[in-house]
Amino acid sequence: MFLSVFDVFKIGIGPSSSHTMGPMTAANAFLALILSPDWPRPSGAKVAAIKASLHGSLAYTGIGHGSDRAVILGLTGQNAESVDPDQMDALVADVERSGKINPPGHPTYDFRPKDDLVLDRKNPLPGHANGMTFSAFDAAGRLLLKQVYYSIGGGFVVTDVELEKMRASKKQESSIRVPYPFASAKQMLEMANRSGLTIAQMKRANEEVSMSRDDLDAKLDKIWDAMTNCIDRGLAVDGIMPGGLKVRRRARQIHDKLQEEWRSNKINPLLANDWLSVYAMAVNEENAGGGRIVTAPTNGAAGVIPATIRYYKHFHEDWDQTGIRDYLLTAAAIGGIIKHNASISGAEVGCQGEVGSAAAMAAAGLAAVMGATPEQIENAAEIALEHHLGMTCDPIAGLVQVPCIERNALGAVKAVTAASLALKGDGQHFVPLDACIETMRQTGNDMSEKYKETSTGGLAVNVVEC
Ligand code: SF4
Repeated sequence: MFLSVFDVFKIGIGPSSSHTMGPMTAANAFLALILSPDWPRPSGAKVAAIKASLHGSLAYTGIGHGSDRAVILGLTGQNAESVDPDQMDALVADVERSGKINPPGHPTYDFRPKDDLVLDRKNPLPGHANGMTFSAFDAAGRLLLKQVYYSIGGGFVVTDVELEKMRASKKQESSIRVPYPFASAKQMLEMANRSGLTIAQMKRANEEVSMSRDDLDAKLDKIWDAMTNCIDRGLAVDGIMPGGLKVRRRARQIHDKLQEEWRSNKINPLLANDWLSVYAMAVNEENAGGGRIVTAPTNGAAGVIPATIRYYKHFHEDWDQTGIRDYLLTAAAIGGIIKHNASISGAEVGCQGEVGSAAAMAAAGLAAVMGATPEQIENAAEIALEHHLGMTCDPIAGLVQVPCIERNALGAVKAVTAASLALKGDGQHFVPLDACIETMRQTGNDMSEKYKETSTGGLAVNVVEC
């Protein structure tokens, strides 16, 4: 099994990797399919119009997550990594006004979002809670091409056929042959013991099969730059977040208070917790505002890892850039194992798969840069994940705001505590990480759909929206 660190950490936009980035990526993929020779088009057939429908969780919480806007933007040829968040409103308004899309390399197609983009709550697709269909028609309205896509979490998108193959074979996401193809925590520890390498070193060796060391380091640094810039933007902005809940951003105000305390040398026994929280909240407020975000491993859980890396820089005098790279590589190793054996999708297993996975990854990354052995790193990840088991996904009004923003703050605090606890031991512990991941998978399977990013249960129905 090999899942690249850059599949786990992807630069994109908020508010949701599965509900915003995924639909945008699916729309991009459908445009590529229209031009592809893989599509044996009937002779003389010309695409004149496109329609799309969103199903299951995407239909329930799609408006709050901006899934409809993401599809429109994707069909104009914009992608999640490069779209300018400040231009998005104008681009969407243009399509709504004209009823046309003109993606680069394509002719102009009819696409009237009001009629041609359907949020279908009644007919979930069979493969996954986040299903989408895209269809292409000729000028006479004849169906030429139809493709089903699933957004399976963290911005990953697969076709219905790819999803079936993945499930049938439980095979590696990539066909790249790597020197340390660990698919479980047990295998990871065995390979570390046999090779004498750290988890970060094994992950690095795997990545360097497909890129040079310099490229790998440059790309890791770019991921960290995007994360830390996101924190800084989130700390600088005030105001109400979009979507209608009227939730106020708090990170800037809390940050101002913390700086004041810092300057006045006031003793704050919760200093580290406060900084962790404010960094995580800054990221998730940016995410809620549709800003530039790095999936870690998802958008909803994007604050935990940047917050704990900033904590490492802030509170550990011996931090360095190599440490940040090792942190990211170690965290990605754990994220890959969780994704391979369970899920990182709130729509599949609830929030335990999002903030729980992020906390496990963060605990592992932090433990690694604090000098932990591979066994202690595995222990740190397990502690963090274990104490998120059963956590549901119930965002109020389908917006990635409440409880998501604070949940990231708490996830970051738990991650640091887990790393610290693991470092106090010798790596021997009672529940193996693999057993914890399997427990998360089974708990997710047993969880009612109400608690899987549908906003039909939990906090989503027990708080009056004003
Ligand atoms: S509750 Fe958790 S899983 Fe659900 S949207 Fe919020 S952060 Fe994501």
